[in-house]
Amino acid sequence: MPSSFRPGEKVPASGIYAALHSGHRFSHEVILLRQHEFPRCSHCGTRVSFELISEVPAFQEDRDLTSRRIFEIPHPEQKAKKESA
Ligand SMILES: [Zn+2]
Repeated sequence: MPSSFRPGEKVPASGIYAALHSGHRFSHEVILLRQHEFPRCSHCGTRVSFELISEVPAFQEDRDLTSRRIFEIPHPEQKAKKESA
C-alpha cells in the first residue's frame, strides 16, 4: 500500500491521517473515512499530501456515523431537529 496520498484519491481505509502541507503550516491530523476523497487544502490546493497514521476500522463499521457526517452539512434542518430533541 502506498504511504502517501494526494487530494482526489480515494481514502483506502478509515482512520487518522497526517496532512502535510506545502510549507504554509505544520502537519496536522485529520480523520478521514474510507471511500471519501482526500480533500484539497484551501490554502495550498493539491500540494497537500496525506499519510496514514493509524487505521481505525470502527469509523467505517459505524454506518450511522458516516451517514450522519454526510447529511449534517447539506441538511441543516435535520441537525436543528436533532439538537432540540
Ligand atoms: Zn495547505
